[in-house]
Amino acid sequence: MNVLVTGGAGYIGSHTCVQLIEAGMTPVIFDNLYNAKAAVLDRIEKVAGKRPEFIQGDVRDKSALVAALKTHDIHSVIHFAGLKAVGESVEKPLEYYDNNVNGTLVLVDAMRAVGVKHLVFSSSATVYGDPASVPITESFPTSATNPYGRSKLMVEECLTDFQKANPEWTITLLRYFNPVGSHPTGEMGEDPQGIPNNLMPFVSQVAVGRRDFLSIFGNDYPTPDGTGVRDYIHVMDLADGHIAALKRLNHRKGLHIYNLGTGNGSSVLDMVKAFELASGKQIPYKIVDRRPGDIAECWADPSKANKDLGWAATRSLQDMTTDGWKWQSLNPEGYPE
Ligand code: NAD
Ligand code: UDP
Repeated sequence: MNVLVTGGAGYIGSHTCVQLIEAGMTPVIFDNLYNAKAAVLDRIEKVAGKRPEFIQGDVRDKSALVAALKTHDIHSVIHFAGLKAVGESVEKPLEYYDNNVNGTLVLVDAMRAVGVKHLVFSSSATVYGDPASVPITESFPTSATNPYGRSKLMVEECLTDFQKANPEWTITLLRYFNPVGSHPTGEMGEDPQGIPNNLMPFVSQVAVGRRDFLSIFGNDYPTPDGTGVRDYIHVMDLADGHIAALKRLNHRKGLHIYNLGTGNGSSVLDMVKAFELASGKQIPYKIVDRRPGDIAECWADPSKANKDLGWAATRSLQDMTTDGWKWQSLNPEGYPE
């Protein structure tokens, strides 16, 4: 089965390509390399034993998408491509709505033109806003506090309306919690450009000596140790969730929504300790003010995905930090240019 993977050169997309190949499927990557390097293709080949087809293109380019879908006889699309930095989205809302919302509409229009009717979309736990309680189920109310989150919510709503009008389509919205870690070989991992926004890439860069210390954003939250609590999920488990969605749902027309998380919450200090253990390095940190817009705690109830998709996260916190450290220590500056 040929699968078009938009954003397949990025962090989650590249790991998903490896798992697609492992599962006997054929990924075709469609990525404009805005936030990725072509070297990732060599690494996918090294790890999975097969080099995926690569098309350098923008999801806002309908004719390029139509050509890719036709030429490669695509059966399903996984749509990772988009912009993802919350802070940047506040500065550049137009770019976020254009890439994330318009990009998805153009993609669906291209799929419709060619008759490809299976889509998996990368959504986020951010659509739950500040949840009233934890764990979070898929039926919790949704809301957005920044343009990035709003773009995800808008896409979810557009796709829901579209699927209602086109009941022969299968559209799956996967709401990711906090993906971390890397391929266990250390050949592939997260390679943020500039100063990392997220906790784990920052911690790994401190461990490898690229940054002096971690700033912990607040220790006065109503959580066991006062720092924020999140549901960190190994990127390989997340990748497997996409394979499960493709395998199980391609014959189940409809609009499906799943949380992809472990169901466990870990604090910032838990993550720092786990990373220290994995790396044997001390992570110096300073407690600073809360980051505006952050919530105290957020973790998934993944039981719907467990039941319907036959999928569950199996990798431990120690796997996440050990594999993350392997990638960072073998590739201190990330992928080569
Ligand atoms: P990433 O930036 O590593 O990957 C996104 C890829 O999309 C990049 O390779 C980039 O070059 C490409 N891209 C961006 N705009 C494009 C466009 N207009 N046309 C073609 N390609 C384009 O990000 P990631 O962490 O792998 O995230 C993948 C998806 O998952 C995103 O949609 C993101 O919003 C979502 N998500 C990520 C997280 C997370 O914490 N990483 C959490 C929840 C949801
Ligand atoms: N965090 C932190 N320092 C950092 C980055 C993040 O203390 O440099 C905290 C943040 O406040 C939150 C947790 O780590 O409690 C996870 O943040 P991240 O940005 O990785 O994910 P998200 O906020 O999207 O859940």
